[in-house]
Amino acid sequence: MHPTMRAMILHAPGAPLVMEERPAPEPGPGRLRLRVEACGVCRTDLHVVDGELPDPKLPLAPGHEIVGVVEAIGAGVRGFRIGARVGVPWLGGTCGRCAYCGAGRENLCDDPVFTGYTRDGGYATHAIADAAYCFPMPDGDPAALAPLLCAGLIGWRALKMAGEARALGVYGFGAAAHIVAQVARAQGRRVFAFVRRGDAQARDFALSLGAVWAGWSDEDPPEKLDAAIIFAPVGALVPRALANVRKGATVVCGGIHMSDIPSFAYALLWGERKIVSVANLTRDDAREFLGIAAQTPIDIHVTRYPLAQANRALADLREGRLQGAAVLIP
Ligand SMILES: [Zn+2]
Ligand SMILES: [Zn+2]
Repeated sequence: MHPTMRAMILHAPGAPLVMEERPAPEPGPGRLRLRVEACGVCRTDLHVVDGELPDPKLPLAPGHEIVGVVEAIGAGVRGFRIGARVGVPWLGGTCGRCAYCGAGRENLCDDPVFTGYTRDGGYATHAIADAAYCFPMPDGDPAALAPLLCAGLIGWRALKMAGEARALGVYGFGAAAHIVAQVARAQGRRVFAFVRRGDAQARDFALSLGAVWAGWSDEDPPEKLDAAIIFAPVGALVPRALANVRKGATVVCGGIHMSDIPSFAYALLWGERKIVSVANLTRDDAREFLGIAAQTPIDIHVTRYPLAQANRALADLREGRLQGAAVLIP
């Protein structure tokens, strides 16, 4: 069966996506063809579309938070059946041979494949994915599951890097933070949310999801924090966060792209404070987090857009008009 597929395609960074139609490809060895049920819109998609990440595959269907149903199975695939629901994250493949893959750090693979960046993603009715990088997904609303696949997953990896912090600062309260805040609260942590000055809606949103305090990103919290995660792509927040954490604390940069970090006094780093970045995910992260998400009540806030309105979804994300996660529905 050769269904026709539609996809929102990027032809050049900075250009709007355009809807195109073509025959859906057959899955090669080891691969699955999915009928996409929902695909989340991630800030990384904005960085790809806006040309802030180098060398995307072009033309490209972006999107790496794919929830879909297996429609065709390539040669040699075991463990998947037609009609099963799976999720496809950002990590679309790894080389399995480099030093990082060998050391269990496949998130740092030297020759990776990234869904919706170096391979076509889920801004489409159909997508091809490596079965070894797909995960079974539970029943339920696919739009509410999609944001788990990056916002949730990368948020989880960032949260692990924050260590045992009880008082946790979160800078930028978008899709990732709104999931992480709920997971952190379920773990007994106290979340302090920092949002763009004047964005009262985002502040109230954070409080409604259990933050013990929410304020502007240039404000000081009421107490020193044990760790902070920065989801906003704003380098100036790094010294701000360092100034608000205790000795020995970690400041985790959760985004794939950030504006330059301004120079700052060494005293802010002194006291064994650490700045780390989170890069991609491992499949173990995905299995671990999807298990936790299944057992934790997480209220995923979703704004749905028809696939054809992907450009509007991206614009709303770029301009901060969203609460929670944007999701495309083909
Ligand atoms: Zn590798
Ligand atoms: Zn993402």
